[in-house]
Amino acid sequence: MKEKPDWLKKKLNADRSKLSEIKVMLRSLRLHTVCEEARCPNMGECFASRTATFMILGNICTRNCRFCAVSKGIPGSPDPKEPENISHAVHLLQLRHAVITSVTRDDLNDGGASQFVDVVRELRKNCPNTTIELLIPDLNGNWKALERIVREHPDVLNHNIETVPSLYANVRPGATYERSIGLLRRVKEIDSSIITKSGIMVGLGEREDEVKSVIKDLSDAGCRMLTIGQYLQPSHKHLPVVEYITPEQFEGYRIFALERGFSFVASGPLVRSSYHAALGFSSLR
Ligand code: SF4
Ligand code: SF4
Repeated sequence: MKEKPDWLKKKLNADRSKLSEIKVMLRSLRLHTVCEEARCPNMGECFASRTATFMILGNICTRNCRFCAVSKGIPGSPDPKEPENISHAVHLLQLRHAVITSVTRDDLNDGGASQFVDVVRELRKNCPNTTIELLIPDLNGNWKALERIVREHPDVLNHNIETVPSLYANVRPGATYERSIGLLRRVKEIDSSIITKSGIMVGLGEREDEVKSVIKDLSDAGCRMLTIGQYLQPSHKHLPVVEYITPEQFEGYRIFALERGFSFVASGPLVRSSYHAALGFSSLR
């Protein structure tokens, strides 16, 4: 593995006893957060600003993205208590902004859309002051299922494009660039008032002009929020980092995206899809 540059050496800045208390509560409700599973270096900051990302529909994925640390295989049935448990956890953590994501469930007819719908309804009922951001998979191109989610009117609907088209086959087998861009476009066609968001990882060998072209495509699809972060290799079994992008290059991408019409852009080495999600959303209101 390449040695990390200094700008990536961030310590987990969090009160450890507080974090273990939160973990015990999450386990008792059979819930998973991306924050913990990815050992995200932003955990202390995010929990303190009352943001967390929950992963619904289990922690086993039917896809095999070569950058992703989530376990792959055959997932179990969705937990019918999960929507209620999420809303209970959001209430206990007093979250201002809840991000809900899932593994990809190609084994389910609706790709898991009904569980997203049920989670939004529970949150609206029990946590009316918490804003909701859904980070959804591509639903295998099932736009009827997508429409059911959009009709619940989450505050933000996020779908990560992840990388440039030329790297898709290697980085995201099972997904296509056109389907992901198409999903974001379709959301705006169903409900133009929905705020859409996407994210790109860099450092996988993409060229700068390719990243700029993706930014342009996302803008043309109506996306107004964007995150750009450094890819980090979760283990030796995952794709290697080809390049560490400098903070200056990240800033260049941020300025380019703002010029292309984005309203909120988080671009930096440690930026993750849900980093400063609450701030990003509130800046648009
Ligand atoms: Fe969780 Fe996202 Fe914050 Fe990381 S950046 S701690 S995954 S909310
Ligand atoms: Fe990971 Fe999502 Fe790919 Fe599944 S679809 S392997 S959860 S990035």
